[in-house]
Amino acid sequence: MAPKPPPPPPPHVIIFPFPAQGHVNAMLKLTELLLPAGLHITYLITAKDHRSLTTRLNHPGFQFHVIQGLYEGPMDTGDKLSVMIDCLTEITTPLLRNLIIGNPVISCVIADGIMDFALAAAEGTGVPVVFFRTVSACAFWAYFSIQDLINSGELPFEGTNLDERIVNVKGMEGFLRRRDLPSFCRSGLSNRTLQQVSSITRRAPDADAIILNTFDDLEGPIVSQIQKHCPNIYTIGPLHAHLKSRSTSKSTSSNSLFEEDKTCIGWLDRQPPKSVLYVSFGSIATVTRDQLLEFWYGLVNSKKRFLWVIREDLVSSNDDKSKVPSELEEGTKERGYLVGWAPQEDVLAHPAVCAFLTHNGWNSTLESIIAGVPMISWPFFADQQINSRFVEAVWKLGLDMKDTCNRTTVVRIVNEVMEVRKDEFTESANQMAKLAMKSVREGGSSYCNLDRLIEDIKTMSIQCKDK
Ligand code: UDP
Repeated sequence: MAPKPPPPPPPHVIIFPFPAQGHVNAMLKLTELLLPAGLHITYLITAKDHRSLTTRLNHPGFQFHVIQGLYEGPMDTGDKLSVMIDCLTEITTPLLRNLIIGNPVISCVIADGIMDFALAAAEGTGVPVVFFRTVSACAFWAYFSIQDLINSGELPFEGTNLDERIVNVKGMEGFLRRRDLPSFCRSGLSNRTLQQVSSITRRAPDADAIILNTFDDLEGPIVSQIQKHCPNIYTIGPLHAHLKSRSTSKSTSSNSLFEEDKTCIGWLDRQPPKSVLYVSFGSIATVTRDQLLEFWYGLVNSKKRFLWVIREDLVSSNDDKSKVPSELEEGTKERGYLVGWAPQEDVLAHPAVCAFLTHNGWNSTLESIIAGVPMISWPFFADQQINSRFVEAVWKLGLDMKDTCNRTTVVRIVNEVMEVRKDEFTESANQMAKLAMKSVREGGSSYCNLDRLIEDIKTMSIQCKDK
């Protein structure tokens, strides 16, 4: 009797994130969601991120492929983001192509959607490329619409009136202002980041599919706009909640690139329920020393308790780092707690937390939504300007203080969100949290879309083998 043929190898996926905390985090979570379905995954990571990653996925179907020789500096401005994109394009296009060609079992590449060179790397190989955009659907759609804004004359704009309405981002006509557009739209058409983000996003329809870390009850109408250009979209977020919902174990890995200071949880344990403002501007945003002090005075003068993440590199490097005024030190001792990096998801889930002063990076925004925590928005750059507009004007989950940074405004807005309108914002945040949780439970929209994605990857695997 002839021996049984060996079983076919499992579908093998290359996952390639853009090297920044929010992107690496989201794509590792995607990886963790795909592994239990029996997929094998090669995860491309830069040498710097590989060194920094504080937890390691330990799974037989998983391997890191470390990329050497990339730009390792900060990415706190659009220019530096562009440097990174250029550097990645040059170094990793041939590397990715060699990986695809040299490995006949690759079923598909899931690349960060801002790395459109993945399309060139896979060209002619028959291996599908799926783009994962780690930004919100609303930011993705605004990026996509930049060309329409230019064609209609809404971009570039001159003068200082940032409250002028924008009407050529479809689906956002009623509430979008100039100041809510991605930050680089303020810099004129010759801005390199504007050109790059616009042209890269316009290439999205060339990918075989798009994955978005969002859910239909949050961004369904905007996803429908994108679908007119990119029909095959998988909305599978919020990823961190999705992972917890499918996981049998209670703890999930943090994927943090920085060491977390968990002592703040002990401090939170000692605070009354819903009394603390959590403050964090994510992993990239920087503030000037003046802005730092304005926030600090605002927090102390608000008389509210606060937990504040002051990263080592939060204050712009060339700014004076002289001593903090004693009244701020006193006020912080009484009601505040400072850390260099927090276990953010645990912080937001803590019963003592009442609101989140955030830069509205997309991960932070989703983490706040899942935890049912109202937001005060202070967007720094890129997608954050539009996320914060949606937080206030569409989802009614808090207030947007973009483009202002003075102690009086901080006191006023903190008071508004944590006192005057606390019940209203808590109620709407709880409603949205319920919808988010529903989407990632069995039968929910994100849950079903992830199942569909896995099935489609398995089908791609069969089609690749038939080539
Ligand atoms: N984060 C964290 N601890 C902190 C601050 C941030 O774990 O003290 C995490 C946060 O939970 C989120 C990520 O860092 O998952 C930041 O991503 P986001 O998209 O919000 O902003 P970015 O850092 O990309 O600007």
